[in-house]
Amino acid sequence: MGVDFYTCNNCRDTFPDCGDFTGCECGKHWCCDECAESQGYRWEEDGYLPKGANYEQTTSCSYCRNENYPDEDLLEFALHKLRLTRDELIVEYTRFADYPHQEEGA
Ligand SMILES: [Zn+2]
Ligand SMILES: [Zn+2]
Repeated sequence: MGVDFYTCNNCRDTFPDCGDFTGCECGKHWCCDECAESQGYRWEEDGYLPKGANYEQTTSCSYCRNENYPDEDLLEFALHKLRLTRDELIVEYTRFADYPHQEEGA
């Protein structure tokens, strides 16, 4: 049995699961209360039933209240809207990274 590490969903710090941290029942973890609260983490006195779930959580955050989404999901959606693949976006980004001030300077 080893120690598992979680990544703070806000500041991306990693910390061991045996230490002090804040977690939401939806599976998000934060290194401290400040990070948790910045993402809408709170106690649910009367329970919170996420859409499609069949049990009430005693905590909730922006993610399980559908007020925020993981960057991966947003990226996937943005690519779909832009009709680009991830590879095509990388090509565009590489061009941008080479000439970041192209539009301002011209
Ligand atoms: Zn943090
Ligand atoms: Zn949550």
